Amino acid sequence: MKNILFLGPPGSGKGTQAKMLADYLNIPTLSSGDMLRDEVDRGSELGKKIKTYMQSGDLVPDEIIILLIKNFLVQKHLNGFILDGFPRNINQAYSLEKMFLEIGKSIDRVFNFEVPDDVLIKRILGRYSCKECGSIYNTYFKPTSRLGICDKCNSDKLEYRKDDNEQVLKNRLLVYHKSTFPLIDFYQKKHLLISIEAVKSSHIVFDVLKNSL
Ligand code: AMP
Repeated sequence: MKNILFLGPPGSGKGTQAKMLADYLNIPTLSSGDMLRDEVDRGSELGKKIKTYMQSGDLVPDEIIILLIKNFLVQKHLNGFILDGFPRNINQAYSLEKMFLEIGKSIDRVFNFEVPDDVLIKRILGRYSCKECGSIYNTYFKPTSRLGICDKCNSDKLEYRKDDNEQVLKNRLLVYHKSTFPLIDFYQKKHLLISIEAVKSSHIVFDVLKNSL
């Protein structure tokens, strides 16, 4: 039971849970958002195009993300993985089914992380992370113990995500409700979905997640 999808609105903590579960199961996690940010950081032509969508909180076009995910899945002979943030709409879900068919894999579980919009807003606007080690913090809920210094690796390379401002957030939530939310029903009908209430602290949520594996 190791090919796992993570669904959830922006700020639901699915990225944190994906990393925790990946460590626990000793499998890699692939975040579509991180993958796109890497492409933007590389400054390629594709990265420049991707940046305009990410900055406004819209989804990047399906053909771009589908190709990136496909390259990842085909090149690496993975024995289990977590896909965090993909698929994000029904079209991507169908493409993923097709890809899995081609590489002889199937989806074993889909976890859906549930958090009300008002909590999401605080989580997202307060969120920052360490560029060096990837640790995630929050101004409201979990600040670093020393201002501007990462607790884990002592780096001062802490930064807010560029797509985390209020206007962009509103659009990201809108996009989530319109495009991604229908996937809950989609995977429920396939009897793959497990919904996790994800308001509590990450360790409590992780215990629930582990117990529902
Ligand atoms: P995330 O880090 O998952 O919150 O994603 C950040 C941004 O990357 C989103 O607001 C989208 O612009 C883009 N993105 C991430 N995953 C996808 C996807 N599966 N399809 C299209 N765009 C995506």
